[in-house]
Amino acid sequence: MSIDLAAVRADTPACKNLLHFNNAGASLTPQPVYDTVIAHLDLERRIGAYEAEEAASETLEDFYDAMAEMLSCHRDEIAYIENATRAWDMAFYSLPLEAGDQILTHSSEYASNYLAYLQQARRRGLKIDVVPSDRYGQIDVAALESMINEHTRLISINHVPTQSGLVNPAEKVGEIASKHGIFYLLDACQAVGQMPVDVSRIKCDLLTGTGRKFLRGPRGTGFLYVRRSILDQLDPPFIDLRAGNWIDQDSFEFAPGAKRFENWESYVAGRVGLTHAVRYALDIGLDSIQSRVVELAERLRTRLAQIKGITVRDPGEHKCGIVTFHKQDEEAFKLAARLRASQINISVTTPASARLDSQFSVQRDIARASVHYFNSEEEVERFCEILGR
Ligand SMILES: *Cc1c(COP(=O)(O)O)cnc(C)c1O
Repeated sequence: MSIDLAAVRADTPACKNLLHFNNAGASLTPQPVYDTVIAHLDLERRIGAYEAEEAASETLEDFYDAMAEMLSCHRDEIAYIENATRAWDMAFYSLPLEAGDQILTHSSEYASNYLAYLQQARRRGLKIDVVPSDRYGQIDVAALESMINEHTRLISINHVPTQSGLVNPAEKVGEIASKHGIFYLLDACQAVGQMPVDVSRIKCDLLTGTGRKFLRGPRGTGFLYVRRSILDQLDPPFIDLRAGNWIDQDSFEFAPGAKRFENWESYVAGRVGLTHAVRYALDIGLDSIQSRVVELAERLRTRLAQIKGITVRDPGEHKCGIVTFHKQDEEAFKLAARLRASQINISVTTPASARLDSQFSVQRDIARASVHYFNSEEEVERFCEILGR
């Protein structure tokens, strides 16, 4: 089904004077989602924050149903966590990894995740191996399988990296992980909200995401999916009185399901907003969102490639809404600042956040323009026109 562009743009009032191609950084929150956040803050102010939380209990519970519907899992497999990095940390630091165990990842890996591998390699004596890319620049699935040995305990990659339009073959990786009985942790931070993400098809054990990016939710919100069947093998790095029950002087038990990864205090207005953001995306439909995003991004890549001095650099057999490029005579931060002065938002990726990404030549800063379904063809034209000046 096609998206009613006028309606979604009307729900995004900033569209009137802002050209927002920074949806991979933080998208613009739809007005109805924003309204629920403000209404909750207002309720806190009027009746008290604990009382407001109680009043919002239905929505707060619906978060688990909405997420489960979006990811095709069970509601008790979802944890609310304040951002994707902490969600990922809760997953990674829970895994039973010991000295000599091998982690397989990919050169597109997110900086914070790779830092955690390095820290744990130092602390616990783990071995990190980077699976090469295939001719498209995505993780080479055959090479991945050939690198598996008796020490391989974890395959941990991203679905979509932060620094390019690549979409990794998450389902094919899942087939291999499940065939060999290896934990599979998927960083889906840039995928959720711009394409269908179905954990029953991907067969990942753990998956993480954030609220503010393609889901268009509030900042400071995120989530974790944990497959029921691996729960007993995980030991959460932290516990509190939401994640566990204190029984007596000598004993405690974990909260049931993925709740054991949550913590008690949270940004409740943000949770309310995130719930509505997920429902908003589900109402539009993630298949429709993906078709529009892919089409707009492809149009942008084609138009950019026609501008003298611009090199589009997105690898991948399948690409998404993230478009990255170099401009020959204009450094990326200067370019972003110039665009900003014309009410155009993009972002810049630095080599420090993608150290292994050298095969995609991130030796210097790259400009990242990330489109969403509410962006228009006219904006793509205007963007390219101003860029080419
Ligand atoms: C943004 C991003 C993260 C981190 O998300 P936060 O919500 O900022 O913690 C993790 N992985 C990828 C691929 C990202 O793009």
